Amino acid sequence: MSSNGQTSADDILIHVNDLNKWYGEFHVLKDINLHVKKGEKIIICGPSGSGKSTLIRCMNRLEKYQAGEVLIDGILLDDNVKNLEAVRKEVAMVFQHFNLFPHMTILDNLTLAPRLVNKMPKKDAEDMAMSYLERVKIPQQANKFPGQLSGGQQQRVAIARALCSNPRVMLFDEPTSALDPEMIKEVLDVMVELAEEGTTMICVTHEMGFAKQVADRVIFMDEGRIIEENTPHEFFDNPQNERTQLFLSQIL
Ligand code: ADP
Ligand code: MG
Repeated sequence: MSSNGQTSADDILIHVNDLNKWYGEFHVLKDINLHVKKGEKIIICGPSGSGKSTLIRCMNRLEKYQAGEVLIDGILLDDNVKNLEAVRKEVAMVFQHFNLFPHMTILDNLTLAPRLVNKMPKKDAEDMAMSYLERVKIPQQANKFPGQLSGGQQQRVAIARALCSNPRVMLFDEPTSALDPEMIKEVLDVMVELAEEGTTMICVTHEMGFAKQVADRVIFMDEGRIIEENTPHEFFDNPQNERTQLFLSQIL
C-alpha cells in the first residue's frame, strides 16, 4: 500500500491482461484478467477442464499463450529467453504429483537446482535445504529416497524444494488432490504457515477450509473464463453465478 492507503500499480506483482490461449483449435483461456498484489493469496477453483492448470502454467511459461500478456514483477513472459530465466527465479511451482527425482535422495532433490543453477557451494545448499526441511517438519527424511516417504511427506519435500529457489510467487496446482485423506492436513498446515509468512500464493484447490483460512480472493473458472470472484466467505456461502452454485453443490 502507498502512504495514502491506495493500491498503487507498484503493489501488483502479477498482471494477467486479456490473456487468450488456444490448444490448436480449442480456445482454452478466454479474456483472462487477473492482478495479484504482493503477498496476496488467490485460490482458483472450477470444474475439471476449465483451464485452471493452463492458467497457472502460463504464469511461469510452462505454457505459451497467443494473445494478451502476463507480467511477473515487471518481467514480460514472452519468447525472450532472458525473461524466462528471470521469471523462473521468481516463480516456483508445486504440482499434484510431486515430481521429485526418484533416484535421488531428498537432500539431493533439494540441492540440485541451487547447486547447478545458482552455483551455490554444496555445504551452503545443504544447510539451506535442511532449514526448509525443518520448516516442512521432515528434516529426519533428508537421506531417504522419495519412494520411502508417504505422499504427504513427498509433497512437503516438493514444497521445501520450491522454497529453495527463494521465490517471490508460489504456484500450487491441486497440491493435495493426489493424497490420501489423512495426509491432506499435514500439507495444508505447511501451506497455511507459508501463507501467514506473507508469501504471494496462487493455488488451484477445492479445499474450502483452507481457502477460508488463507485466501484473500477466490476465483471461479468455467470453460476458460473467470466467471466469479469474491472473498472466500462470500464465494462459498453466497455464490452468485448459477454455474458456481452448481459446482459448489457437487463438491460440498
Ligand atoms: P483444469 O486444470 O481446469 O482441469 P486444464 O487447464 O488442464 O484444466 O485443461 C483445460 C482444457 O484444455 C481441457 O479440456 C484439456 O483437455 C485441454 N488441454 C490441456 N492441456 C492440453 C494440451 N497440451 N493439448 C490440448 N489440450 C489440452
Ligand atoms: Mg488441472
